[in-house]
Amino acid sequence: MRNWDGSITSRPAARVSPANVSEIIAVITNIKKYPSPVRAVGAFSSSTRCAAADGGTVVDMGKMNRILEYGEGYIRVQAGARLYEVARELQKRGLEFAASPGPSVMSMGSAACGATLAPAMPGQSGQLSSYAVAMKLVTPAGELLEVDNSKPELLRLLRCSYGLLGLVYEITLLVRPQRALKLRFDQLPLNTVLQLLTALDYNAVSLGLQVFPFRKRVAVEHRGEHTAGRGSRRLVWRLQRWVLQQLQPHLGELLARIPVNAVRYRLIDGLNQALNTGFGKALSGAGVTTGDRIVRWPGNKRVRQTVWVFPAVSFAGVLNEYVDFCRTHFESCGYRCNLPTACELIAADNESLLSVSSDGPVFTLEPRSTADEGWNDFLVDFNDFCSRLGGRPLFNQTRGLSRDQARRAYAGRLANFSNLRKKVDPHDRLLNAFFDQILA
Ligand SMILES: Cc1cc2nc3c(=O)[nH]c(=O)nc-3n(C[C@H](O)[C@H](O)[C@H](O)COP(=O)(O)OP(=O)(O)OC[C@H]3O[C@@H](n4cnc5c(N)ncnc54)[C@H](O)[C@@H]3O)c2cc1C
Repeated sequence: MRNWDGSITSRPAARVSPANVSEIIAVITNIKKYPSPVRAVGAFSSSTRCAAADGGTVVDMGKMNRILEYGEGYIRVQAGARLYEVARELQKRGLEFAASPGPSVMSMGSAACGATLAPAMPGQSGQLSSYAVAMKLVTPAGELLEVDNSKPELLRLLRCSYGLLGLVYEITLLVRPQRALKLRFDQLPLNTVLQLLTALDYNAVSLGLQVFPFRKRVAVEHRGEHTAGRGSRRLVWRLQRWVLQQLQPHLGELLARIPVNAVRYRLIDGLNQALNTGFGKALSGAGVTTGDRIVRWPGNKRVRQTVWVFPAVSFAGVLNEYVDFCRTHFESCGYRCNLPTACELIAADNESLLSVSSDGPVFTLEPRSTADEGWNDFLVDFNDFCSRLGGRPLFNQTRGLSRDQARRAYAGRLANFSNLRKKVDPHDRLLNAFFDQILA
């Protein structure tokens, strides 16, 4: 079994796709037929082994994918429904998720109980899971459990449980009336952006960056609420997604075959910058709704990315050092990413025990490439760099994470989660090797 982009392989002994909760209970309680670890899987689009079940049982939630109820300010869904499908149905009713991540293939189950980052919008929390106000699950003992706001600590734990405390089959999520966004793009020198970042009120803005380390340039996307009505550039937005996620990586790979370094990288940098600037201009002004942004990922499966986050207050310094890191790595190892690095402002969020932005707003740092030769070694050095600078990894999105790096970032919170997990699942029915190593 391979994950979405084919970078991770898992070899489970059994694989089932339950159609109802009784079938989930039957799996959990029959250890002989369905060996441990039992792992719930949505789209298996995570870039770590968090959902892997080597020698165990994969529970593919894909058949439990219905929207069960549209309530006043909430929606009730089955865990296997895909985020973009639910977003599309909400849009038809003039609604959207209370926090909206980007284009994706993820399932509602993992969105409710894993790290799903949503670009900051003033007044909103950083993770979609914070808006999961009720969940129904099958515990490791095969019992049914319903958790809602009347048990806030348990809900807080479940929102970062990655299938280790139970298999979630139903979720109630808060939704809100759809809003249109006004977008503005600038291409700026790195130094100007570093100054801009230090002067920002992180709780009052929405901001995404595309960084070109070798040109020392940054494309900045500012977003604000467009109060004059619905946005009008939905098609341009979709075209931009397709070009940046499909065409740009293909061209990057093609250009990477040019044998002369100086020519190759001049063309790669020029192309990446021109595409970002061109679409930036086309999308400036009245833009799109936040729901428009959660389209099905049109992506190129060869694109790989990894994520660490850093406190927003110190991010200017981190970004400056990152640019130096990329240049030094290139000089010593001859490798550099052939796609720009993305950064996104994520709002503060203390609604889950292992939240990445529990202490305040953070910026993501997301190098991307087409996994060309040298990418895996780059990841090792990049993880060291981020850990040294006090970054926080994500258990479902940071590639090649070590136990020491996880511990350094989450310290007591990880130990706390580990102790609670042991109480809920004393026989390790749901614990896979990935989390065993991280939590040990
Ligand atoms: C193309 C692409 C775009 C992406 N865009 C974004 C983005 O915009 N924002 C963002 O934050 N991330 C993004 N990601 C990362 C990815 O979506 C997350 O890692 C997400 O958690 C994966 O969802 P999934 O359904 O594929 O979960 P899986 O990989 O199948 O599982 C993730 C974890 O959740 C657990 N799990 C899944 N379902 C259940 C359930 N029903 N009950 C209990 N546990 C469960 C699994 O056991 C596992 O531990 C993107 C990834 C890709 C490949």
